[in-house]
Amino acid sequence: MLKRASLKMGLSIIVVIVLVLSLISCSQNVQVSKENEIIDEHVSNGINGENDGNDGHMSSNNDESSSSNGEDNRAMEENFQEDEGMLDYDLIKPNEAGQIMILMYHDIGDIEGEWVRTPENFRKDLETLYNKGYRLISMKDYLNNNINVEAGYTPVILTFDDGTRGQFNVIEEKGELKLDPDCAVAILEEFNRQHPDFGMASTFYVYYPVPFRQENLIQFKFEYLIQRGMDIGNHGYNHENLSSLDAKEIQRALALNVKSTQQYLPGYGVDSLALPYGAQPKDERAAYIEKGEYDGTVYHNKGVLLVGSNPAPSPVHEKFNPNRLPRIRASQMNTEGVDMYDWLEYFDNNPDKRYISDGNSNTVTIPEDMEEYVKKEALDHRQLVIYKR
Ligand SMILES: [Zn+2]
Repeated sequence: MLKRASLKMGLSIIVVIVLVLSLISCSQNVQVSKENEIIDEHVSNGINGENDGNDGHMSSNNDESSSSNGEDNRAMEENFQEDEGMLDYDLIKPNEAGQIMILMYHDIGDIEGEWVRTPENFRKDLETLYNKGYRLISMKDYLNNNINVEAGYTPVILTFDDGTRGQFNVIEEKGELKLDPDCAVAILEEFNRQHPDFGMASTFYVYYPVPFRQENLIQFKFEYLIQRGMDIGNHGYNHENLSSLDAKEIQRALALNVKSTQQYLPGYGVDSLALPYGAQPKDERAAYIEKGEYDGTVYHNKGVLLVGSNPAPSPVHEKFNPNRLPRIRASQMNTEGVDMYDWLEYFDNNPDKRYISDGNSNTVTIPEDMEEYVKKEALDHRQLVIYKR
């Protein structure tokens, strides 16, 4: 009895604390929103308190994560500030109309080449991105403007074309099957173990008949990816050059890819396309790149990816065109000064161009000078917050 009574008392104390906290955060909300004359209750709810000790590192782009106790406390304090809706704009400089890099990888393999990244270089890429304050988001979330990145950080998107074995390779060791530790998927998983706040979101643009080149393991690999929040995209049924096909052939190539993937993953939404060779028809056939149907299979590409060579606009920017999304080559051979490292340097030197998150997917926070570029209808239900930088 006594136990139950004290449990009850404990619960009511918690309820009171929660009530008081939400009252405080609501009143702060009104302050933040006043500028736009919209009161958005989500500001307090959008940023949760369950994050780890990395939250506090919003003042610097080069912080390594640390989980020592002192750091944790500081992180919690800053997190609490966020909960109250009091984003320090001067410190964080959110710019959710800024640019986002969609990185393009092909194979991961032993010898570096124009279309091959070595495991060592791929690890170096991830480390560099992490240390410079980039965090992974999925292509699906980018296309839906559902960008969940901690305040002060920049989203980045990983894409892998062609479904090569080096991207996802299974090997046998002492009679047991395991992931090749040097394939892209294993490297991403290992990196994520060390840096859980980096994420593993990636999209693999595969073609058929044998994505990832191990015939008996397609089912295993597809399920493995999906279960870990990674995605599969369309790269044609057999890597067709879509610019040289007629309307029916284009639909056949794209629908058969979707149909094949759905044979392994029933109902899975294949909803973006990486154009094989970056090639697309310029005339009326272009419509079939986005939508079409063949033999009962319907497809809808909400995003179409080109090959080169710029960062992509924010989903709320007037230049955002989901049918022509530029990518950046994440390799360093014959890249003519526009590879990932060139762009990283560019954003280091031009931090005002870079997308920087406000940490709340219900608000779109931008500096005043970006307002003219924001497509208001792209905001959807999200509240626009404007500040002077
Ligand atoms: Zn390709």
